Amino acid sequence: MSIDELHQRIRATRTQDLETLCELVRRPSISTRGEGIEECASHLKDIMTQAGIGARVYETVGNPVVFGEVAAGAEGMPTVLFYGHYDVQPPEPLDEWLSPPFSPTVRNGRLYGRGTGDNKGQLLTHILAVRSYLQTTGTVPINVKFLFEGEEETGSPSLTEFVTTNRELLAADLVLTSDGPMHESGAPQVVFGVRGIMNMELRLCTARSDNHSGNRGGVIPNAAWELVELLRTMRSPDGEVTIEGFYDDVVPPSQYELQMLDRLPYDPSALAAVYGVERLDLEKTEFYRNLMFRPTLTINGLSGGYSGAGTKTIIPGAASAKLDVRLVRDQKPHDIFAKIERHIRTHNPRAELIPQEEDMLPSRTSAELPISQAVIAAVEQAFGRRPFVLPSMGGSLPDYVWTKRLGVPSIMVPYANADEANHAPNENIALECFYNGIHCSAHIMHELQK
Ligand SMILES: [Zn+2]
Repeated sequence: MSIDELHQRIRATRTQDLETLCELVRRPSISTRGEGIEECASHLKDIMTQAGIGARVYETVGNPVVFGEVAAGAEGMPTVLFYGHYDVQPPEPLDEWLSPPFSPTVRNGRLYGRGTGDNKGQLLTHILAVRSYLQTTGTVPINVKFLFEGEEETGSPSLTEFVTTNRELLAADLVLTSDGPMHESGAPQVVFGVRGIMNMELRLCTARSDNHSGNRGGVIPNAAWELVELLRTMRSPDGEVTIEGFYDDVVPPSQYELQMLDRLPYDPSALAAVYGVERLDLEKTEFYRNLMFRPTLTINGLSGGYSGAGTKTIIPGAASAKLDVRLVRDQKPHDIFAKIERHIRTHNPRAELIPQEEDMLPSRTSAELPISQAVIAAVEQAFGRRPFVLPSMGGSLPDYVWTKRLGVPSIMVPYANADEANHAPNENIALECFYNGIHCSAHIMHELQK
């Protein structure tokens, strides 16, 4: 069978495919409130079963996981695991929706409804691509597995445990995720990693309570000044973090990655307008290098003393700062935490560093692996234009679950339009994006059999 026949088949089933998506969107699955989760999971399983996929619902400590698999027609083929999530964000504020969030409606070439773009429309493209293959040839070219969770919108609390206790079930050569938007220009993007994150609070206590700034001014220490001075030792004026060993595990971009960065669009004045800053002084390579290849130490907020209306003449007895570190590649949160702690002990033993919330590890897959190159080639063929290749995004997602827990390369290929309004009223997916996604997933499977 030629790939063209497959694409023809996909074009022929558009009406039916759109209706399948509408049926899925009609079932609310709001994880944060636990609304409609079981029903949506079971409906998704039914869609997969009807598509010819061996599917079942797995209970977890949290919301159920819908798993599915189809074996390739031939032996020795690679396995791709498609990951997605069937849960959605709450639809509020309801009065801002032009059509009800769980009554999917087509307007101006888009399907509107909660979950259309994030992530029901996107996860469905993989199922529908497999269905088209099965209906056209009776088989799929590679082994395919699906894992759709119901807790992504609440931070995937049970995903790591599910993955680590089901390694064999989930064994694969590649994890592929379609979530989030395409580039604003409409170009496809292929994303190979994320930065990690760790949150901390730095606390300084210099007295049992605040003191009178006149009666005791000049004779006792000031927690706010000490905090500012301590923070000052952690970064040079040009932005380099001066904590010893902070950059130890940082790997500079490879030649290939530099080429990929060079091909990315960069308009510093447009970006400055979006960010609301006066200007961006960085060169393109520096901009992307800082965003994808360098860790950051950020002051998220400072508090101490009095900052309300009027005046209050005190010497603060306590002050604190919220900090986050964005980690890259092989950096380990506990190692960086220990390095910051050591720095603090040397510079101000009175200060205390307290970890906050759970860390998220960074994750990176090499875009130079043969399987990565096959995905890039497939996306290019499917869209008829070269995708932007992003070695990493600046933000953080639990991608390490695949690369570091399951030990499998992980690639993200978003299919939704840039203005999908995910998490907002009038969430939508452009019908063209939905259909192109089905073609692209089929193309990826086709390419990976080679
Ligand atoms: Zn989301």
